[in-house]
Amino acid sequence: MDQRDVLLTTLQLAVPLHREELRDLPSEQLLAIASNAATVLGSHGDALQFGGKHCREAFNALARGLAAAALTADGGVTWLGAHWCADPSCHNPNAHLSGP
Ligand SMILES: [Zn+2]
Repeated sequence: MDQRDVLLTTLQLAVPLHREELRDLPSEQLLAIASNAATVLGSHGDALQFGGKHCREAFNALARGLAAAALTADGGVTWLGAHWCADPSCHNPNAHLSGP
């Protein structure tokens, strides 16, 4: 299992947990959480790849940011082939596409 697989597997566990924790928050607060996550990742995103003292903080920001985006973005969010949206049973990024 390479680093990408480890990251994806751990996100598939963590994002749904964060999503349920955040589910009842107002959208303004979700957007603030996503924005804060982006700031943390902008500062410490390299720790996800190379490790270091900010690795846990960066991972939690990524998982929480993806969860906040899953609840606020139309169609949810898809990253590294994984999909999260407001529907816990939905795992298909194409489920939100409108056909011709
Ligand atoms: Zn979905």
